[in-house]
Amino acid sequence: MSILVIDVGTSGLRAAVVTPDAKVTHEHYREILPSTPDAGLVEFDALVMADVALEVARRALADGGPVEAVGIANQRASTIVWDRATGQPVAPGLGWQDLRTVGDCLVLQAEGLRLAPNMSATKIKHLLDLHDPERSRDLCFGTVDSWIIWHLTGGQVHVTDLTNAGVTGLVDLAGHGWDTEVLDQLRIPAAMMPTIVDSTGEAGRASALDGAPPITGIAGDQQASLIGQGAVRPGVAKITFGTGGMLDVVLESGRPSFHSRGGGGTFPIVAWSQGGEAVWGLEAIMLSAGSNVEWLRDDLGIIETAEASHDIAQRCASTDGVVYVPALLGLGTPNWDYGARGALFGITRGTDAAHVVRAVLEGVANRGADLVAAAETDSGRPIPELRIDGGMSRNPTFVQALADAAQRPVEVSPVVEATTLGAAFLAGLAIGTWAGFDDIAATWQPTTSVDPGAPTDRERWARAVERSAAWFPELSGLDF
Ligand code: ADP
Repeated sequence: MSILVIDVGTSGLRAAVVTPDAKVTHEHYREILPSTPDAGLVEFDALVMADVALEVARRALADGGPVEAVGIANQRASTIVWDRATGQPVAPGLGWQDLRTVGDCLVLQAEGLRLAPNMSATKIKHLLDLHDPERSRDLCFGTVDSWIIWHLTGGQVHVTDLTNAGVTGLVDLAGHGWDTEVLDQLRIPAAMMPTIVDSTGEAGRASALDGAPPITGIAGDQQASLIGQGAVRPGVAKITFGTGGMLDVVLESGRPSFHSRGGGGTFPIVAWSQGGEAVWGLEAIMLSAGSNVEWLRDDLGIIETAEASHDIAQRCASTDGVVYVPALLGLGTPNWDYGARGALFGITRGTDAAHVVRAVLEGVANRGADLVAAAETDSGRPIPELRIDGGMSRNPTFVQALADAAQRPVEVSPVVEATTLGAAFLAGLAIGTWAGFDDIAATWQPTTSVDPGAPTDRERWARAVERSAAWFPELSGLDF
């Protein structure tokens, strides 16, 4: 039987029914954008989010139901604090991109506690300091998965899974529980934390939906996309090229030796947990990917649509030496540098729009190759297989440039965003739709596989990156 998936993204909410032959059907999508009340602040109305989740879920069920189970995929680390008795959030939810706690992170760093502002930890503290300074109220904390499950179960179940818990900054990953020392340091009451459950296994029943199907799959968006692309074995990485870009890969044996960030600039993640056992992976991050294409379209106006970047780039066979470094928000993996900025090198009087558009696509592709190299360094093993999803994966010029820069074949996901499939796989594993991760790996059927052509000049690329570094040295000093 089929599985209902609720996929809560950063800019919209999707529900769909996934069939046992791994087809995503009966999709219902509603855009809900977070608000930006001031520079660096990102908030969302958690009650609207819950209402829309139930609405799209009910529509997908009405079209494609009944279902045997429910899977959830969600934006990670976004933070909601609510009153346990009334279910009312104490304030708007804080989006993962919200930067209001940068100062707190720097203070805590000086005290020896390393937390990044995009993690939930300091967001919870911030909300508590404002709305429960005495820590006397009976409040609940949840990431988006917890919040949606709370609503699906009529307020009966307060859980999260380890893929989500792992990016809050509050988990004692060795013991798979909340880190009481960090909770104490931030004055976060342990009683407000959700119970950590497996990514695949029954977490509760969705009594708010017809038939009250069990919720049996939970994962953060990147982990869901990894699983959705069948990249469930070491050596097979996926990169999602959306607004930003994230590479994820499963590790061979257990937790990496580094606690927060590896020498190559990647982070440990829990790819999923099953039967109380965590499967570990690595994540490498580029802070801007498709946003560079948006810049070409919305600010420079040299392309009309994101898709048109392919046609325009095809007007020239090469950039004639123009190199673009897509560091609009600084550079992430491998050298975290918040002070780096985007740069175009090698411009001549003969440089035209086609060269610039091609250079932008190739620049993002080169960043992709950087992420692969970083993941190989930090995992200590080669990554011969690369799978991609996200908006930019639809661009043939870009996919070829990625294959050339990474010098390995690139396989393109049949669905633009594989998160929905990944959540369905986790839910289906728990009820026997798929017998195990080998079955999941076998579902992978790329739309195309692109072989590498002539190698990109990676040495020139490295020189360009070096020159774009530390443009604002004071920002380059920040490190989380
Ligand atoms: P997100 O999930 O982050 O919202 P998506 O996976 O929907 O992102 O991808 C959207 C991004 O991909 C946008 O930044 C857009 O500019 C870019 N994009 C979409 N289609 C194309 C395309 N055909 N070529 C290049 N970039 C594209």
